[in-house]
Amino acid sequence: MILFKKEHQLQYYLNTLRLNKKSIGLIPTMGALHEGHLSLIRKAKEENDCVVCSVFVNPTQFNNDADLEKYPRTEANDIELLTSIGTDIIFMPSVEEVYPKELNTTLGLDFGELATTMEGEFRPGHFDGMAQVVNRFLNMVQPHSLYMGQKDFQQITIVRNMLIQLGSEVRLVMCPILRQDNGLAMSSRNVRLTPENRALAVKVSQTLSAAKNLIDKKTPKEIEEWAMQELNIPKFRPEYFSIVDGITLQLIEDFGKTNSAVACTAVWAGDVRLIDNMILKS
Ligand code: AMP
Repeated sequence: MILFKKEHQLQYYLNTLRLNKKSIGLIPTMGALHEGHLSLIRKAKEENDCVVCSVFVNPTQFNNDADLEKYPRTEANDIELLTSIGTDIIFMPSVEEVYPKELNTTLGLDFGELATTMEGEFRPGHFDGMAQVVNRFLNMVQPHSLYMGQKDFQQITIVRNMLIQLGSEVRLVMCPILRQDNGLAMSSRNVRLTPENRALAVKVSQTLSAAKNLIDKKTPKEIEEWAMQELNIPKFRPEYFSIVDGITLQLIEDFGKTNSAVACTAVWAGDVRLIDNMILKS
């Protein structure tokens, strides 16, 4: 394992690999790593000569300072975990390294309705910041393949759109959601759940699974309404439960008229915001 903090040092190293025709896989993360993140690294290791995992809590994708402040940071543990599974390179740049004053890193792409529904409605500007940082890491690392999780379904859909708009040849690999035994989707934010809310949070994945079993019996709208009620338990507050087309992310009116349907939800469990999704039809 080699740890880099500076872009130019990382690039110097990666250029040599590229000259030797080695393939490079990139996994961008915000740290506080768990098995879900590690599953992306393992997948990338199967498919690449060199795996780069970046750990960077990106300030431009947070809507408020308090959320950024509260984001868990576990650098030493992240390095230990990444080393234990044989990650080739860890890239941990500072904010100044990612956003140097002299460099204009704003992307200025329009993601249209992909970025205004669901997370976009509740976290305005979030996806512009996310796309900005992913693009910046793509420029710094210049990988052949990029590994991202289905856990953030809207995010990966927007990154796919970004790659198309940029005419990028980077291969985007979507990795499945890793869950705890009880179904709770693994997330860096789970460490902030109270024990009581952690136990109750299983309701999120249970509701998604139940929604999947209802697609032959109810309309998308009926399922959405039912799910919002199911998730409305004490100390929990569902923000949305939307059944959308897996490509356009627009609400579906009739399961018969689409080939791909995904249920996406965001729920506040106390002061922790959880997101999860399930592919209902693909
Ligand atoms: P984050 O550090 O939360 O920005 O996540 C970094 C990457 O890990 C993103 O592509 C996420 O979609 C992915 N990821 C997060 N949680 C999981 C999970 N439970 N299973 C699989 N991938 C995940």
